[in-house]
Amino acid sequence: MNDFKYVFGPIPSRRLGRSLGISPLPKKTCNYSCIYCQLGRTDKMTNKRQEFYKTEDIIAEFKQYLKDSDKFDIVTVVGEGEPTLAANLGELVVALKALTDKPVAVITNGALLSDPQVREELCHADMVLPSLDAYNQEISKKIDRPYGTIKFEEEFEGLKKFTHMYEGELWLEIMLVDGINDDEQSILKFRELLKELKYDRLYLNTPVRPPAEADVNVVSEERMRYAVETLGGISIEMMSSGAFFSEIEDDYEAVKSIIGRHPMNQFEVRGFLESRDVKDPEAMMEQMKKDEAIHVIDYKGILTFRLK
Ligand code: SF4
Repeated sequence: MNDFKYVFGPIPSRRLGRSLGISPLPKKTCNYSCIYCQLGRTDKMTNKRQEFYKTEDIIAEFKQYLKDSDKFDIVTVVGEGEPTLAANLGELVVALKALTDKPVAVITNGALLSDPQVREELCHADMVLPSLDAYNQEISKKIDRPYGTIKFEEEFEGLKKFTHMYEGELWLEIMLVDGINDDEQSILKFRELLKELKYDRLYLNTPVRPPAEADVNVVSEERMRYAVETLGGISIEMMSSGAFFSEIEDDYEAVKSIIGRHPMNQFEVRGFLESRDVKDPEAMMEQMKKDEAIHVIDYKGILTFRLK
């Protein structure tokens, strides 16, 4: 299974469970060169959509993978670059969906959402996870360092249009970088922009893995808390430490208090309970399913819990 070219993983993800990756383009092909990118600086900088690999070749490999294993929770088109640069993204998503009942997600930096064709293609996915790291061109140039012709205003307009036309699950992500977009004024600017968008969840991230540029730093816990509270988001880092903001001692009540404010999917609940050393998280989730105060939503086989 190690010699696959397009299929990788599954990789355990705090948000998505066991995520089986599908890469539709060569490594480090991107229209951004983010200062926080874990892959280093972008060496194949382009903003031209093209068919890097044939859909049939990717699908043949996915079929091969499915013969041996179905141990994944979600299929994620992500690649080590920007997947919307693949001109066959739409047909790829449709073809993947025809072969599995699991949800198919696309993770994107959102730059090409200014293109109506890209917006149409992404509508085929069950979940889309776009990024929004900047609130104007200046900040975009500092953090994302986009391809020369990309304009922040056009990107944002595209994102806005997409969030209003898309009917699947839309999870936004903002990467907060120390000293660039994490001050109070920046957070308030993000708050204004977010009012124009329609989304199901907002995740806040900070570069915890080795970034492309050495002087990129994570934000302080205080700044992250301020952003979480002001923007109503979920901190990805706090998910891993189990902090999800509950000081309630009783584990069951702690989960209930969180899902009263933010829905959590089964992986997030499990991660949270494990971080608190709960012996049998599965048993606690069974209890949650029976709890009349909790609404359990089954979306493509992934359970989401929220308080009624
Ligand atoms: S958009 Fe993603 S792949 Fe492209 S440079 Fe940024 S982090 Fe790296």
